[in-house]
Amino acid sequence: MEKIVKIKELENVTHDVLRIATEKPAGLTYSPGQAVDIAINNPDWKKEIRTFTFTSLPDDDYVEFTIKTYTSHNGVTNQLRSLKVGDELALYDVYGSIAYKGEGIFLAGGAGITPFLAILRSLEKQGKTGGNKLIFANRTKADIIRENTFKKMLGNNFINVLSDEKSPGYEYGYISAELIKKHIDEHTKYFYVCGPDPMMVAMEKHLSNLGISFDFIVKEAF
Ligand SMILES: Cc1cc2nc3c(=O)[nH]c(=O)nc-3n(C[C@H](O)[C@H](O)[C@H](O)COP(=O)(O)OP(=O)(O)OC[C@H]3O[C@@H](n4cnc5c(N)ncnc54)[C@H](O)[C@@H]3O)c2cc1C
Repeated sequence: MEKIVKIKELENVTHDVLRIATEKPAGLTYSPGQAVDIAINNPDWKKEIRTFTFTSLPDDDYVEFTIKTYTSHNGVTNQLRSLKVGDELALYDVYGSIAYKGEGIFLAGGAGITPFLAILRSLEKQGKTGGNKLIFANRTKADIIRENTFKKMLGNNFINVLSDEKSPGYEYGYISAELIKKHIDEHTKYFYVCGPDPMMVAMEKHLSNLGISFDFIVKEAF
């Protein structure tokens, strides 16, 4: 069912990522890791529906999205950049295949971090971040979404991998099977994977090569 909400806050998280906070519609329920279909509520854009993950928590009295915008073409995310506080979004179905099952390693690429941001925020709130680890792949440091938040939550269990920038304290290249293997320990039961298609394909191959059963992989392609 359509729920119209007003934008309450709109700010930059990185050079191309927006944080949009809206009113929370009555009756909305979701679990950390889930997403919702969204349209901009104006006549020109209403038919263009895209999916974004809640990065707020179900108990929050607002709804938050963390959205990577593509300014190279006039799609929905580019259009979101021109919205202002008070403009409206239409929310539709809630869904998503990523949910927390237990400790493990989160493997994220770019905006694929958003379900993990929600899940890890929820675990932090419950004091249950435990031995979870996050391996986060980006092009450069400037592309890392919520770096300080994850550092604070996870400390040394937060590993950054940069493909286009060499920097001390950051792994260089793509997430490899070796890197994943290095971080497997007694806490590792599940592997959570989210990112663009090529990254998903690579991660599934690495996990298969490491002998990880499909039963322990939780994934969603962006
Ligand atoms: C379950 C789920 C949850 C998601 N959650 C999030 C989230 O929380 N945050 C988030 O940022 N994203 C999320 N996504 C991805 C998000 O839905 C898409 O990035 C978004 O729909 C893009 O919309 P768009 O209209 O701007 O681009 P689209 O027009 O839909 O294009 C998408 C892709 O194609 C490229 N592209 C298409 N046409 C052109 C063109 N002419 N020139 C250049 N490039 C082009 C874009 O660069 C982009 O990579 C999620 C996806 C799924 C499936």
